[in-house]
Amino acid sequence: THAFQEWLSDRGAAIALSTSRYRAISDASPLGNVVTDADGRCHYTNAAIRDLCGYSGTEPYLPHLRDLFHPEDFALFMKLTRLPGQGVDGSAMEARILRADGSTFWARVHTCELGEDQASGERLLVIEDISARKLREASLVLSHVSLTAEKERAQVTLDSIGDAVLATDRSENITFLNPVAERMTGWSLHRAVGQPLAEVLTIVDGESRQSISNPAKRAMEENRTLALVANSILVRRDGHEYFVEDSAAPIHDRDGHVTGAVMVFHDVSQSRAISLRMAHLAQHDLLTDLPNRALLTERLQQAIGLAHRNDRRLAVLYLDVDHFKHVNDSLGHLVGDDLLISIAERLKSCVRVTDTVCRQGGDEFVILLSEVDDIQDAELVAQKIGTAFQITHPVSGHDLHVSLSIGISVYPDDGVTAEDIMRNADIAMYQVKATGRDGHKFFESEMSIRAMHRLRIEGNLRRALRQGEFLLFYQPKIDLQTGLITGSEALIRWSDPMLGILYPSQFIQIAEQSGLIVGIGRWVIKEACRQTRAWLDNGLNALPVSVNISALEFRHPAFTREIRKVLDETALPAGYLELELTESILMREGEPNVAVLEELKALGVRLAIDDFGTGYSSLSYLKRLPVDTLKLDQSLIRDIVTNPDSMHVVGAVIDLGRKLHHRVVAEGVETSAQVDLLRARQCDEGQGYHFSHPLSSAAMAPLLTVTRTHP
Ligand code: C2E
Ligand code: CA
Ligand code: CA
Repeated sequence: THAFQEWLSDRGAAIALSTSRYRAISDASPLGNVVTDADGRCHYTNAAIRDLCGYSGTEPYLPHLRDLFHPEDFALFMKLTRLPGQGVDGSAMEARILRADGSTFWARVHTCELGEDQASGERLLVIEDISARKLREASLVLSHVSLTAEKERAQVTLDSIGDAVLATDRSENITFLNPVAERMTGWSLHRAVGQPLAEVLTIVDGESRQSISNPAKRAMEENRTLALVANSILVRRDGHEYFVEDSAAPIHDRDGHVTGAVMVFHDVSQSRAISLRMAHLAQHDLLTDLPNRALLTERLQQAIGLAHRNDRRLAVLYLDVDHFKHVNDSLGHLVGDDLLISIAERLKSCVRVTDTVCRQGGDEFVILLSEVDDIQDAELVAQKIGTAFQITHPVSGHDLHVSLSIGISVYPDDGVTAEDIMRNADIAMYQVKATGRDGHKFFESEMSIRAMHRLRIEGNLRRALRQGEFLLFYQPKIDLQTGLITGSEALIRWSDPMLGILYPSQFIQIAEQSGLIVGIGRWVIKEACRQTRAWLDNGLNALPVSVNISALEFRHPAFTREIRKVLDETALPAGYLELELTESILMREGEPNVAVLEELKALGVRLAIDDFGTGYSSLSYLKRLPVDTLKLDQSLIRDIVTNPDSMHVVGAVIDLGRKLHHRVVAEGVETSAQVDLLRARQCDEGQGYHFSHPLSSAAMAPLLTVTRTHP
């Protein structure tokens, strides 16, 4: 619980930190930022959007997108951004944005998904005011109509505007550049005039680097205004590059004939850099700047797709820093943070640039080796890391030595989905932890999963015993003649902080195989005695409590002594404690273990044979066992109503019990028909869901107010 809470609060701090960082970045931006959910409800706006929309109120400005967009553009926006795959790299559109006073302005709206969880639909809108540009474009085209007449005046206008303007004649030869266009193309007006447009203006696609055909030609052919595709790069004469947005429009003469084209473009490198930075922050760990879990998942899925197509392997290394908590606890979180940064750097130095080192959270890292031919390649990397980590980390004046536990799983050998690969690497890592840390291991087959599972439960059982996570429930036993409670059976439950309530079938076997049952059993006996004593002290009619004993406990040389000690310590009269032993426990080398039973009887405790009727009971030894009770196994009771043979067997056992002067208790009684049969056959007691499920001690207490003479 403690570690979990610490993890939670660490995470809380990280989220708070990232939130305030985002806000600071966002408020400093000249571009409007709006964060919305999938339905267009706005959660956040930055300072710029409030300015742009002329909002002066003191409340946060959180309009619904419906009220932020011009109605026509809103519909278009929702349509565009609902398309699958419209993601981070920005669907961008031009739209009219409503001001607080109802007027509108033209804006360019970039949209990117936010957050790790695609399903949340949270997105960021970056809003850039382009109204001035729109206006200029319009007036420019208009002014060209009378360009010759007002050439001089137009020239002044064109020279002073912030966008690059470039004009061509009908055959795409340059006729004009304004100063901004001169600067961005690296051509002077003087040299450019008469040159082919393609010579002066080199535009390539940001990703493919292929040159993009200029929209001027199409604008003329189609006689309409066109925009350049997103992500275009203008390459200046000297090789310098700008991300640009541009548009082209045809120029008409007085008679409406197309005489050339005008292009307006401007540098968007800066706003692009900001949105890229935002996207980067959403996919990277703030502390180490490594890819985060979300980005890793994405890359792993891509890598799996690629490996599948090329019939290749890939490997995932799951790394956990050994004893990192010690560093945090003894030297403080700041040193811990610096150490994580140093670890991140060192890990990066151990892999190729094509591999991904990611911080999974806390002190866990994951490395994706996207191309491994031989499984040994992954092993080599793990070894290289092991060697690299023999050198200490100089952190805040300390020289810290850390080792790593590394689990490796390989696609497709250990799984074919990203989830399986990750989980299996994690399991392998855990195995390294469990067997001494500081090393690496490959994931192994089914069998070792079970071994793993066992190790995990075993570790958790130890903790459960230490931290008091066990509980006892009590199931009443009922006298079938009088209907009164005669006692109860204590049944263990494990309240695991993560998994909730666990039942004996989920852990007793492992406790027995690992020997932990001895400690657990000791606790059970003590707790049952303590509780019964407490009931007595509270004036309740406490009744004998039956406790299940495992073979290992029973064979423990100190068992009888232990029982005596508990009875002494809790001051419980021995007659209130009954021990339930199965037939197999009572046998030793083919002979009933009478000696220990005699010792126990001498203490005054009661003895029951549990699950009776399933084992090797033979009359000859049964007679020699000093027991008080036979508990008929529930498998015998189950079908007594439907199967007369079963009832015959049960009847015979009841008779046997009576002859030996044992009380006979039927287990697993679930229906009144069973009760009727058992009562008619003179069975003494019944236990089962028909009477009551096992109850917590608090729920049991009220049942103990019913008067009854005690043992
Ligand atoms: P058991 O000794 O045979 O205990 C009876 C089991 O039957 C209990 O399951 C009980 O909840 C269940 N039961 C009771 N009435 C009915 C019914 O009407 N129908 C059915 N189908 N089941 C009923 P639980 O608590 O899950 O315990 C399972 C087994 O785990 C126990 O079987 C016992 O062998 C073991 N166990 C439980 N507590 C302890 C313990 O403290 N120490 C040890 N060593 N073993 C324990
Ligand atoms: Ca039992
Ligand atoms: Ca039983």
